[in-house]
Amino acid sequence: MAGQILVVGSSNTDMVVKTEKLPAPGETVLGGTFLMNPGGKGANQAVAAARLAGKGTGSPVTLVAKVGNDLFGEQAIRQFEQEGIRTDYLAIDPETPSGVALINVDTQGENTITVASGANANLQPSEADAALEATAPDTIVLLQLEIPLETVEHVIRRSYEQGLRVILNPAPARPLPFGLYPFLYLLTPNETEAGLLTHIAVTDEETAGIAARRLRELGAANVIITLGSKGVYLHTEDTSTLIPAPDVIALDTTAAGDCFNGALAVALSEGMTLPDAAAFACQAAALSVTRMGAQASMPTREELKRN
Ligand code: ADP
Repeated sequence: MAGQILVVGSSNTDMVVKTEKLPAPGETVLGGTFLMNPGGKGANQAVAAARLAGKGTGSPVTLVAKVGNDLFGEQAIRQFEQEGIRTDYLAIDPETPSGVALINVDTQGENTITVASGANANLQPSEADAALEATAPDTIVLLQLEIPLETVEHVIRRSYEQGLRVILNPAPARPLPFGLYPFLYLLTPNETEAGLLTHIAVTDEETAGIAARRLRELGAANVIITLGSKGVYLHTEDTSTLIPAPDVIALDTTAAGDCFNGALAVALSEGMTLPDAAAFACQAAALSVTRMGAQASMPTREELKRN
């Protein structure tokens, strides 16, 4: 019997304009095409988890996030429901608009991104309490850093007190309070985030090993450093090993880390060991980079089985 997954994090709407070139300050560039996509690391990871868990028999996924009382918020909630994500504990901010990211992309793939966090920045520590109270003892809690650090810290400490396993994906890169590491079952930085947290430049297996050991010394029970096309470095009490990424032709690596973390939560909720869960998540993330988009690229369990 699979456990539950509780994701606490951000939900954004990405508004993308593709143009020949990026505008310089004060310049207007005409002739672009416009796309609107659901995003935010919390929402992306919840979608990845829901698709990989599979509808019906799989681990139920609940998302705690905050959206505005506006069309973007309504649309986000509708999309979560379509994905089979439980939205009972989503908060609606009566005053602040939903989070948006304004993204300009040129024909070379260069981009500029501005984010208005909106309601995400108002997700209060207490707003996750009801969801935590309702969790089963084997629930996996998954967080990122696009909501207030105070809320992240509160959820991690409470989850730990309840005996729940917490995965923290420390993205985007931000320093963490030192006292937080001992409450983490699993910390999953990418190379940049691992570098910021340890002051060790992570570029390969050797430096990933050094940084992972440092993060365990700080108190995280287990560490996985994601290394893009090189795969992941897993460091636990019993294992220190590189798990190579499957060889694929990458079309778009947007949200590869989000797919990896969502998949990891599913695998752990199903009782897989950490090495098996990391390998499962590498398979899922590799499939996601062969497709365009963030949430659009997240594979289902059936698609993963077929590959
Ligand atoms: P982020 O998206 O957070 O920057 P990474 O770039 O490290 O994180 O990617 C996360 C994971 O996605 C990697 O550890 C790997 O498993 C998978 N991945 C990313 N890029 C590729 C690729 N080109 N080929 C295969 N797998 C990939």
